[in-house]
Amino acid sequence: MPNASSSLNALQKQLSKLHQQINQYNHQYYVLDQPSVPDAEYDRLMRELINLEQTHPQFKTLDSPSQKVGGQPLKAFTQVAHQLPMLSLDNVFSRDEWQAFVKRLQDRLVTEHDIVICAEPKLDGLAVSLRYEQGILVQAATRGDGSTGENITTNIRTIKCIPLKLIGENGVDYPDVIEVRGEVFMPKTSFNKLNEQAKKKGEKSFANPRNAAAGSLRQLDSKITAKRNLAFYAYGLGYVGDLSEEDSGLSGQHFLKASHYQRLCQIKALGLPMCPEVRLLENPQQVEAFYQDILNKREALSYEIDGTVLKVDNIAQQEKLGFVARAPRWAIAYKFPAQEELTLVEDVEFQVGRTGAITPVARLKPIFVGGVTVSNATLHNQDEIERLGLKIGDSVVIRRAGDVIPQIVSVVVDKRGDDAKDIVFPKTCPVCNSKVAKAEGEAVLRCTAGLFCQAQRKEAIKHFSSRKAHDIDGLGDKLVEQLVDENLINTPADLFKLTEIDISTMERMGKKSAKNLIAALEHSKKTTLAKFIYGLGIREVGEATAANLANHFFTLTAIQAASFDALQTVSDVGEVVAKNIVNFFKESHNLAVVSALDAIMTWPDIIEKNADEQPLAEQIFVLTGTLNQMGRSEAKAALQSLGAKVSGSVSAKTHFLVAGDKSGSKLTKAQDLGVTVLTEDDLVALLAKYS
Ligand code: NAD
Repeated sequence: MPNASSSLNALQKQLSKLHQQINQYNHQYYVLDQPSVPDAEYDRLMRELINLEQTHPQFKTLDSPSQKVGGQPLKAFTQVAHQLPMLSLDNVFSRDEWQAFVKRLQDRLVTEHDIVICAEPKLDGLAVSLRYEQGILVQAATRGDGSTGENITTNIRTIKCIPLKLIGENGVDYPDVIEVRGEVFMPKTSFNKLNEQAKKKGEKSFANPRNAAAGSLRQLDSKITAKRNLAFYAYGLGYVGDLSEEDSGLSGQHFLKASHYQRLCQIKALGLPMCPEVRLLENPQQVEAFYQDILNKREALSYEIDGTVLKVDNIAQQEKLGFVARAPRWAIAYKFPAQEELTLVEDVEFQVGRTGAITPVARLKPIFVGGVTVSNATLHNQDEIERLGLKIGDSVVIRRAGDVIPQIVSVVVDKRGDDAKDIVFPKTCPVCNSKVAKAEGEAVLRCTAGLFCQAQRKEAIKHFSSRKAHDIDGLGDKLVEQLVDENLINTPADLFKLTEIDISTMERMGKKSAKNLIAALEHSKKTTLAKFIYGLGIREVGEATAANLANHFFTLTAIQAASFDALQTVSDVGEVVAKNIVNFFKESHNLAVVSALDAIMTWPDIIEKNADEQPLAEQIFVLTGTLNQMGRSEAKAALQSLGAKVSGSVSAKTHFLVAGDKSGSKLTKAQDLGVTVLTEDDLVALLAKYS
């Protein structure tokens, strides 16, 4: 049995390991702007440390990371001593913890009444303090270690939304000295652009907008900061008052007497931006609703947030509550569930897709992130694996935000064990053993066997029956796989030879579902030329290109016969797509499938429309979110029939974005670019106008 002194020894070892780990992560995060582990992992370690210190207060030292704010300011900058400290925030992660926080507030304030709360999004950037003297921006500093920050005045001056001079009512309404505190952040669109550029140039990309903002602001060359499109929201005050101690001591009294929310409004009136989501709330229930509302909006906001910050609004109450070592007692960060987590890559397998692309897929130790349990992540291609420097057995940061598929963001090289293994790409197709090849200039390795490869056959049939192609109800991926494995089908055309008996012998298929599937297959025979072309699964011929081909050539025969040059006259068809189409129709096995399907399926003739019937010609639309009155495919087809182009992504060329329910990043991007946004009702009215 371990004696008391050996367990104390173990505890001290554990604490010192925690100190060392957290200090290292702090340095990477605050000083280098390059964290190696996700925030969730850092927060777990910090909690573990705080819990140990609470149960064994004798081991809580002054130099413990639990007592410190941020990191040391970089020596390359001149140092700024903060007149009032810039603190951090304590965290809660659940409703119970939030309610316990409210209870602590009430106990300390000796009240049973509801406490008015100013609720704000927790902006994911870095804290700065802006000092205005006589209305002029004279100094800007980072938080640094809370008492000393870095002088970043020149860089802050490049941020367009930060006024160099305050607007005072009649030119006098600002105090002699006012320090405005807030967050500098990088809007999502600027972050994505910056990382795309970095990738193109082969430079290192930033892990997230927070690090991008910090890295951009803490630059010795302010010209670089100026290019980075940073933004700022104010969320509090530092020192407010007279310039010199001998003055009246009355400057800024209106600020000092106001509540926290009123202070923010006054700061806004001086010309500084305040986050439009800030709300004044009467009770904890309203705060919970606010938290949920902001969580729902998270993806659609144009800036990154990682929770909400809830502050006691009444300043006398704030003063009574006071501070602990590194954070005020009157505020708390109520954080959102993590979108980034740490897990292990247990293996890497290779999947063969519809076009023969061999995609490495990481099999992960299952991890709960972004609201779901994730156990796989695509690694795209060899370039991506090299970029990440990934090995089997590595600890990785996995990110899942909104509906975006999970991705491996980075490898935690420090955690690599001796048994980590290199990822070796297969020399032959892992499914059919045929040769694999990489086309010139392509990063993707492909199986060369085409429809002779069972994996490609399966994927071609799945694509043919998918919702956007022939939408064959009841023909799920698993059933397609079984039917191919049992040699009952080899091509999409074989689907139409299936009998009820064939289908009902498959796993989990009864007589009724077999009958329904036969009916769905029968129903799918009536299609459109655009869907027929899309359903063939020609590389890079998506729905829009298929529709353009159909509207340009009118018949299948004309598309099949079109030359490389003729194909390129179709909108959206460039050299690569034209080559894919020509190559597809060169292959005899493809021709056999096309002609078998042509004999089974029918579609209405396409009648050439004149310009009057194409009132939306040249107009580029993007559809996003859930459309309730019609499906997205239906809306797309209706727009295309009026001549509109329907694109999958928003750019400066987009004319209209149709935003349905739960619109996410596309809506944000459209708003940023000033694209006209239509509701579903607007769309319905527009279509009705021309029908
Ligand atoms: P914090 O980010 O949890 O909270 C304090 C900060 O919140 C403030 O300084 C301010 O910058 C910001 N903030 C955003 N919106 C605000 C608002 N409306 N009002 C007030 N403040 C607002 O604390 P911190 O001390 O800066 O950092 C700790 C956190 O940073 C950790 O919880 C962790 O998530 C992350 N971190 C991660 C690593 C890592 O290695 N991944 C290392 C260190 C810290």
